[in-house]
Amino acid sequence: MKKMIVPLLLSALLTVPVTVLAKESTWISDKPLTLKIHLHARDKYVWDENLPMSKELFRLTNLQLIGTANKTATNSQEQFNLMMATGNLPDIVAGDSLKDNFIRYGMEGAFQPLNKLIDQHAPNLKAFFKSHPEVQRAITAPDGNIYFIPYVPDGKVSRGWWIRKDWLDKLGLKEPQNIHELYTVLKAFREKDPNGNGKKDEIPFFDKEPERLYNLVNFWGCRSTGSDAAMDFFVDANGKVRHPFAEPCFKEGIRNLAKWYAEGLIDPEIYTRKNRAREQLFGANQGGMTFDWFASTAGFNDSISKTVRGFKLIPLAPPADINGKRWLENSRAEMRPDGWAMTVTNKNPVETIKLFDFFFSRTGRNLQNFGVEGYSYDMKNGKAVFKDAVLKSSKPVNNQLWEMGALLPIGYWMDYEYERQWTNPAALQGIEMYAKGNWFVPLFYGVNMKKEERAVYDQFWPDIQTYMAEMAQNWVLGTKNVDKTWDEYQARLKSSGFHAVLNAMQAAYDRQYGKR
Ligand code: CA
Repeated sequence: MKKMIVPLLLSALLTVPVTVLAKESTWISDKPLTLKIHLHARDKYVWDENLPMSKELFRLTNLQLIGTANKTATNSQEQFNLMMATGNLPDIVAGDSLKDNFIRYGMEGAFQPLNKLIDQHAPNLKAFFKSHPEVQRAITAPDGNIYFIPYVPDGKVSRGWWIRKDWLDKLGLKEPQNIHELYTVLKAFREKDPNGNGKKDEIPFFDKEPERLYNLVNFWGCRSTGSDAAMDFFVDANGKVRHPFAEPCFKEGIRNLAKWYAEGLIDPEIYTRKNRAREQLFGANQGGMTFDWFASTAGFNDSISKTVRGFKLIPLAPPADINGKRWLENSRAEMRPDGWAMTVTNKNPVETIKLFDFFFSRTGRNLQNFGVEGYSYDMKNGKAVFKDAVLKSSKPVNNQLWEMGALLPIGYWMDYEYERQWTNPAALQGIEMYAKGNWFVPLFYGVNMKKEERAVYDQFWPDIQTYMAEMAQNWVLGTKNVDKTWDEYQARLKSSGFHAVLNAMQAAYDRQYGKR
């Protein structure tokens, strides 16, 4: 038997690609090193060491990450809480929407401060923070430490305004350039039967996310949100933390939305239709305008034009507001509250910070954004380019990448090129127009609160937020009159701890970003 083994081993060795035998320049450890990672994200994704991306990471860095999260669990937040409660920590914890937890548990001693490690062992991260000081400020804890490396999106544009060009043409109208023209256009969509079926069934404005309806208050010069999320706090030019829904301007804005709603310019089912609104209303040739992501919305030109003759959806520059100003609250966030951290029980902090650094290097970014070289992408003229099979698949490119184990919410730097390669021409045209117009107001990345500030926020904010959302909905639907109930609303905010919340956030903001 012994004689048999030698040739088998030899032949096995001979079939291993030469690159595996030679030391990779991207190796982080000379000996293979295993690290345990808890990654449970978006209620369904877990780290799986058997996926192509994980295997390639092992080949490139000589670090093997073994996933410890429950593969069948469907609540990521719950899985995080459970893991923290057992006290049995892996080496690395990763996932989405964990920023506040990383900071809270970091200050309590569960995660290692990364500042020194970055300084000594992470040249890519160091260079990144130097060129993006706002990201560093946004992730720094109240004690001055960095406890996690975030997911950093790339590209400037996120959502934009979209309108039916075929309807405008049919009614002899131009693209609306300001709020007054926009009103005229939506009114015509409602009254003049652009879909030509003889029925008054057009729905001039709709949105798959009901809260995006409030973006319309921008046209009356009012804020609706400060971040990429809807209904969030904003910071004014004097560095004061405020909430759009408590502003006097909001009363004016929402009064007008109520009027538009009463006139049938807004989807009567805006609060209930949700996810498939675009498929439904464009598919039935009833929807006229929406506010949404460029790539996915432009895609309806391909799918709907097969059934709705002449269907043409185009990106619309933000119509100027009542003050004559074009502006936009939504842009692509420079940082997401997702990422990864190393636990206090991790015995290999240097290798781990080098791993974190790897995903800010060219090779690491290619792996995370494009998957595995030779499998999902090829290098052409020094650039990663998706294989045709990936681009032409009936499955969206990002889904293919997730299935490969890439794109998961670890700490990494997105490469916009990954998205551009599968974005259709109509979307690219809109993205270019919006980037050129540069109508964006700066995003607010939130504050990192001390324990006592967080306690105030947690005590009052959830109820206030619910109340604000309820009242806004009542006003739009006309079940409450904004002029008759505004004072009562303000009084209720005052008695519900709203100012205590603002004060807690302001204290955190001043500490984190510096008093102005
Ligand atoms: Ca009609």
